[in-house]
Formats: sequence, C-alpha cells, structure tokens
Amino acid sequence: MNQHISFEFFPAKTEQGNAKLIATSQTLAELKPEFFSVTFGAGGTDQDRTFNTVVSIQEKTGISTASHLTCVGSSRERIGSILDTYKANNINRIVALRGDLPMGMDDPGEFHFADELVSFIREHSGDHFHIEVAAYPEKHPQSIDHRSDLQNFVRKVDAGANSAITQYFYNTDAYSYFVDECAASGVTIPIIPGIMPIGNFENLSRFSDGCGAEVPRWLRARLETYEGDPSSLRAFADDYISEMCLTLIKRGAPGLHFYSMNQVEPNRYICNEVIKNIG
Ligand code: FAD
Repeated sequence: MNQHISFEFFPAKTEQGNAKLIATSQTLAELKPEFFSVTFGAGGTDQDRTFNTVVSIQEKTGISTASHLTCVGSSRERIGSILDTYKANNINRIVALRGDLPMGMDDPGEFHFADELVSFIREHSGDHFHIEVAAYPEKHPQSIDHRSDLQNFVRKVDAGANSAITQYFYNTDAYSYFVDECAASGVTIPIIPGIMPIGNFENLSRFSDGCGAEVPRWLRARLETYEGDPSSLRAFADDYISEMCLTLIKRGAPGLHFYSMNQVEPNRYICNEVIKNIG
C-alpha cells in the first residue's frame, strides 16, 4: 500500500501500563507505520509521561514518534524548552495543538490558537520538526461556522504545518468535501483522515458529543442493537470501519491515522483488511 499509516497512543499511568504500551507499539510496528504519536495533556498535565513515552517508543521500535504539544495555558519560554529537549533526544515530529484549558484554569497564557504555536515552532526550531496540525471536517465544536473554521485551518498551514490529521468522523462525505474546500483555498499539504475504531458504544457516544464528531443516526441505532453483545458489536464495527477506510483510500486519502486507544486490535485487523484489498 502506498498510503501511509500511523497510530496514536496516550501515555500510560502505571509502570505495568507502560510496559504493555511498549509491547503494543512493537506489535503495531510490524505494519511499518510512518510514525507513532503520543498525546499531551492540555495545560501541561502529563508532560513528563508524554516525553518518556515518546522517547521510549521511538527507541524500542525504531519508528519515528511524534509528541503532541498543546500550547494553551503555556508560555513561549516553556514551549521553547520542551522543543529543545525533544530536539536533543532526536524527536523530529510534533503534532501542534491549541488544546482546551483544563477545568479550573482560566488564563490562556501566551498562545491563543494553534497557528501561533506553529509559527513559534518554526521561529524557535527552524525546520527541525515535521509539524502536524488538527483539522475538523465536521467543524470544530467551538467554531462559529464552517467557513471561519476552514480559514482558521488554512492559517495553521500558512504558519508552516507540513501535514494535518483530522478529527475522527463516520461520514466520508464530510472528509471529501473538506479536502476539496482546502484544495480550493490553496492548501497542498496531506490531510490524513483520523480513524476511530468502535469498541464501546457508550464511551464513543459520550466522547463524540464532546469533541464534535457525529455518530450518524443509522449507525447509533445499529450499535445500540448490540448492547450486551460486545463480540457482535466488534464484528460489525470492524468491518464497517475497514470499509470506510477502503472508501477513503479509493477517494484519494493520502493515509490513515488510527486513534488506537493503546490496543493492537482492532487496529491491526482493520489495517490488514485495507492492505489486503488495496494491495
Ligand atoms: P485551533 O486550531 O487553535 O482551533 C481551535 C478553535 O479556535 C477552532 O474553533 C478554530 O476555528 C478557532 N480559531 C483558530 N484560530 C483562530 C483565530 N486566529 N481567531 C479566531 N478563532 C480561531 N487535545 C489535547 O489536549 N491533547 C492532545 O494530545 C490532543 N491531540 C489531538 C490530536 C488530533 C489529531 C486532534 C484532531 C485533536 C487533538 N486534541 C488534543 C484536541 C484539541 O486540543 C481540541 O480539539 C482543541 O479544542 C483545539 O485544538 P486545535 O489545535 O485544533 O485548535
């Protein structure tokens, strides 16, 4: 398959969880991903855990590993020092994000939006980092309308992003229209669809409401019928997501980024289905 794949992890909270995550990344490395990435708590929470996870996954798998980096609530000095530490440890990919202020924090600090972070990374570290930014085919939940959200995305690209990863979605038309609109606005960087496999309907439903990803009515209804029958839900969902990935690739998506939830399956199954059917 010519298109690249990548897997996103979150840092584990225990030694045991961390050992399991390293083993998961080593298994997924067999699929030859372009990169792994590790999330970062907004407001700087979990910063050390993210750093240690990024460095050990890259060391143990030999696969380039990106750190997510949120800027809200932070300062130029602090972000500059994080970038220097990553550079000194041979990390050369950053997923640059604004993030959301954690409950109880109300000072946004020196950065207000992700485009300011992208500009700062370029100013501070030149071209050392490959910078990914977030994109929202179904609109960011805080955005007043789709057009201004698109303009704000273009701002991040103009600030120096190399590629983008989308919020997950279950409506492939939302992605296709978004990519066309970006191209019409002069965007040429790859926009990689973010893929969220479905493991647990209740969790997915709650999380989707918060991040502005729509679970279509027909899909919700179908998933609800599998309540109490997780293996039937998985069988349906894995095939549905595999088909969705194939549709995206056939329509020209440059790759697939999996929100892996730190699991080997169903990510490996879906990738293998795509590889088998695309060649
Ligand atoms: P921005 O691009 O700054 O956009 C945020 C909002 O502000 C949008 O509504 C946008 O339209 C608007 N906006 C942007 N620029 C301007 C401007 N100049 N003027 C006015 N309005 C503007 N969160 C974490 O905490 N940790 C993570 O590791 C993490 N990883 C993520 C990975 C991916 C691939 C994605 C899609 C999301 C991730 N998130 C993560 C969630 C993300 O932090 C939230 O969605 C956050 O609300 C927005 O971050 P952003 O970088 O997209 O912000």
